[in-house]
Amino acid sequence: MKKYNFNAGPSILPREVIEKTAQACLDFNGSGLSLMEISHRAKDFQPVVDEAVALFKELLDIPEGYSVLFLGGGASLEFCMVPYNFLEKKAAYLNTGVWATKAQKEAKLFGEVVEVASSKDKNFTYIPRQFEIPADADYLHITTNNTIYGTELLKDLDSPIPVIADMSSDIFSRPIDVSKYGLIYGGAQKNLSMAGVTFVIVKEDLLGKVSRPIPTMLDYRTHVKKGSMFNTPPVVPIYCALQNLKWIKAQGGVKEMEKRAIERSEILYTEIDRNKLFRGTAEPDSRSRMNITFVLKDEYQELQDEFLAFATSKGMVGVKGHRDVGGFRASCYNAMSVEGVQALVATMKEFEASK
Ligand SMILES: *Cc1c(COP(=O)(O)O)cnc(C)c1O
Repeated sequence: MKKYNFNAGPSILPREVIEKTAQACLDFNGSGLSLMEISHRAKDFQPVVDEAVALFKELLDIPEGYSVLFLGGGASLEFCMVPYNFLEKKAAYLNTGVWATKAQKEAKLFGEVVEVASSKDKNFTYIPRQFEIPADADYLHITTNNTIYGTELLKDLDSPIPVIADMSSDIFSRPIDVSKYGLIYGGAQKNLSMAGVTFVIVKEDLLGKVSRPIPTMLDYRTHVKKGSMFNTPPVVPIYCALQNLKWIKAQGGVKEMEKRAIERSEILYTEIDRNKLFRGTAEPDSRSRMNITFVLKDEYQELQDEFLAFATSKGMVGVKGHRDVGGFRASCYNAMSVEGVQALVATMKEFEASK
């Protein structure tokens, strides 16, 4: 039976990306050696990093003055590196969920943190729209897509201070205006690559402004200067990212990814709103195109385990919701086909008809 991977992360990748990465693990570029065995300084590997950086710049239309870095530590290490490198006195944070809260917690170790708005009052089911950005803060931190709650900020904010964004789960799903950001980061394992690499897009002239000493590995300038090669980078995940970037380009780039994301999410939200058993959890104007969260209506709560078992029997993988939201979550990253979403919709319809 065909399986449809709706996992929230690590998550679905295009089959050809997995195959090309697997092939390079057996024999890298006809060298007779595995990608796992070669030096990251081997002359064959440098072009992998260079090409991945070039494709980042091309696909996201990144202006001059920004560096693209591939680091370790996951998005979670960025929660600490961001304030380490940018927080001199005060930083502003928009609280839209667990990840945003974790980012904010780290910043408090470095200075004053102003929470400009929070949607915690309604279990993060919406993105706050009305908030003031303090002009005297060093930066505003946002989380553009809230993987757990299924909410997404689909707009590049205008801000008097640099915007720093965690885009772990929606990078490359729509065109973004990079010039409106000071730094963008994310773990690769949602929409870019396998787990093990973190991407960072940083505006170079914002670096070096804090007065505290920064440990070498946690200083973005180290990695800008050394082109992500200060120490041994995660070569296999970077290679996998490169294959995925090539795939995105061949499909038509981020505009095409956005078109598909809109199509997939509309199909699924339409069914959630129509089906008598289910309801969406995110407020309609905050709904994510990447992580689609829904629950059984109150009167059908007892069907929770039965629906999960039914969906699993139909080949749906990873549709159990996060424990903080309950119910179900269908993560529809770039590699998810419309056919996959239609299969989930058919499953929901069939289940409804059996009740
Ligand atoms: C998954 C996720 C993280 C954590 O990423 P790690 O790479 O595991 O540290 C942070 N932010 C968001 C929005 C995420 O979806």
